[in-house]
Amino acid sequence: MRPSVLNPLFSDITTLPGVGPKMAALIAKVAGPRLVDLAFTMPTGVIDRSYRPQLAETTDGVHATLTLTVEAHEPPPSDRPRSPYRILCSDGSGYIRLVFFRARRDWLEKQLPEGETRLVSGKIEEYGSQRQMVHPDAIIDPEKEGDMPPAEAVYPLTAGLQQKVMQRAVQGAVAQVPDMPEWQRRDILQKEDFAPFTDALRDVHSPLSRLDLQESSLPRRRLAYDELLASQLALALTRHRQRAKGGRAFRGDGSLARAAESALPFALTGDQQKALAEIREDLTAPRKMVRLVQGDVGSGKTVVGLLAALSVIEAGAQAVLMAPTEILARQHFETMEPLLEAAGVSSVLLTGRDKGQERQAKLRALKEGFVKLAVGTHAVFSDDVEFDDLGLAIIDEQHRFGVQQRLKLQEKGAGTDVLVMTATPIPRTLALTAYGDMDVSQIREKPPGRKPVDTRAVPIARLADVVEGVARAISAGGQVYWVCPLVEANEDFGATAAEERFEEIRARFGEAAELVHGKMKAAEKDAAVSRFARGDAKILVATTVIEVGVNAPDATVIVIEHAERFGLAQLHQLRGRVGRGDKPGSCILLYAQGDGGLSETTKARLNVLRQSQDGFEIAEEDLRLRGAGDALGTAQSGFPEFALANLAEHQNLLETAVADAKLVVDEDPELRSERGEALRVLLYLFQRDDAIKRLRSG
Ligand code: ADP
Ligand code: MG
Repeated sequence: MRPSVLNPLFSDITTLPGVGPKMAALIAKVAGPRLVDLAFTMPTGVIDRSYRPQLAETTDGVHATLTLTVEAHEPPPSDRPRSPYRILCSDGSGYIRLVFFRARRDWLEKQLPEGETRLVSGKIEEYGSQRQMVHPDAIIDPEKEGDMPPAEAVYPLTAGLQQKVMQRAVQGAVAQVPDMPEWQRRDILQKEDFAPFTDALRDVHSPLSRLDLQESSLPRRRLAYDELLASQLALALTRHRQRAKGGRAFRGDGSLARAAESALPFALTGDQQKALAEIREDLTAPRKMVRLVQGDVGSGKTVVGLLAALSVIEAGAQAVLMAPTEILARQHFETMEPLLEAAGVSSVLLTGRDKGQERQAKLRALKEGFVKLAVGTHAVFSDDVEFDDLGLAIIDEQHRFGVQQRLKLQEKGAGTDVLVMTATPIPRTLALTAYGDMDVSQIREKPPGRKPVDTRAVPIARLADVVEGVARAISAGGQVYWVCPLVEANEDFGATAAEERFEEIRARFGEAAELVHGKMKAAEKDAAVSRFARGDAKILVATTVIEVGVNAPDATVIVIEHAERFGLAQLHQLRGRVGRGDKPGSCILLYAQGDGGLSETTKARLNVLRQSQDGFEIAEEDLRLRGAGDALGTAQSGFPEFALANLAEHQNLLETAVADAKLVVDEDPELRSERGEALRVLLYLFQRDDAIKRLRSG
């Protein structure tokens, strides 16, 4: 249960005085439904109320506080009651009109009596020689000057929500922050010069200048560190829990894996062997394995997964391999088949397309244990899929699956070991945040004979040349991927639709071209991809569905349109689709050139790709150039989102948080000590309390 001190913060924003359901809905739109969400909504700007110019010195658009004498009220004429109410004021150096729409006259007469002096704060606008201020932010009697804050935070808004209302709501939320025990270690507080949490929160909401809004400011760093520690502690606790739960010790005799390995047409690379050894050590140990295998596209993860599965099958259990797309599941199944045959292991392919009797038969075989290996899509998550004895779950291309799905699959078997394989070369920093609950094996070494893919950036204006290059590659016996970023033409975006491009390419190359995109039916997709994989089609025009898909050894060229819109990691992954056979590959990054040419960042990004073939290096650079969310495409990544921390800015804090979380879990895994109790509050505050629930449910 949530510590009761936090209850006020977790109450609905309607509990704030003056916030009704209608306003609450608007506030919820920009912040969230509860007070804590408001408190964690960071200001995006600051208005300096200490700027006190004479009217004559002001310029259009500036925010200023003026000392004005009220000269004359100019109510709307009676035949046009909807026109604004104006009040002419002066300060000796010039005149300004305060403008009010739908204002109450009696209120204005009380606030701004003719002949009196008032401090008036707001944005000054100039129309020709006229100055005006629409709806001043503050009107204060000079005798109560102290009521005017020197500066005010500015928050994101939505239509119908006024800045003042939002400011008041945030202040109201911050006022509800209770006294909480300090959860951070004293030495870290001292080293970083951090104030207590509540003070830091108040500070970020009372900026004096733009400097105070920076993520590098002390109060922001303190809050970011709290959030990072909460997320790292949650991961560390989960991992500790999984370990402690105890897995099973799978002791195979090596016979099946050996049979499959000797049927391979190649020898494993050193990194593949090393990863496999690490996995096998986990499998034979009586604790639960939760391991991530990271390796570039083409580094040979599939065979590692398969051999791991065979080790478990040798020990009498079953294994499942899950891929993010049907195409990929099918391809895995096909590549594995001869090896499984060599080992004499029965397997099934399970996708969303299996229906009726056929599906029932497959499910029965799995449940009764006749079939030892299932390869499939997320269809293996379905509740009706049961195993006789699931020992190992392998999840390929992890970045498409979230932490939640990872946990769900593990629940399908008691003490099921989990192996996650990803081709997204995740920078170390991000790996820590997303996979802090896992052990990591890396495959950096490529299978022998792989040549670097020649990579070039070409403006779209040279499309005709590129098409001729494609024709040459095909007559030399190669195959070509042509990647477009969107499925349908979107005029706003100006994207070349795959469909449109396909028509053009068909016109030039005829039946040699195939099209595949996410909106096609599964059967159509498969048909197109198989024609390409068999070599019957020479060009595959595709959206990014191929990104984690097909393996076509004869593909030598990949053309990527609107390369400037892709993340580097994604481009690198796409590029990995070519040059897998003995012929060298090339990658053409087509970019749309705006009026000003490519931006410096875009140029720098494309350069990184041209100069490096190392996914890990590329990922680090991408993070540096773009920031965390973008580098991964957060929406699909399953990466935790942070309200206050920014991984590019707060990297070193993350590392401290990782180390401290580990220490906490080593010393006080049940969070029983005094600090442990405080850390529970922290976990709830940042809504990472799932970890506590798991801690209890055991
Ligand atoms: P990943 O899943 O890591 O992108 P794959 O497992 O699909 O890569 O392997 C890519 C290709 O490399 C496959 O055709 C595979 O058979 C081949 N391959 C894997 N390991 C080796 C190796 N050690 N030597 C040569 N080829 C290999
Ligand atoms: Mg793969």
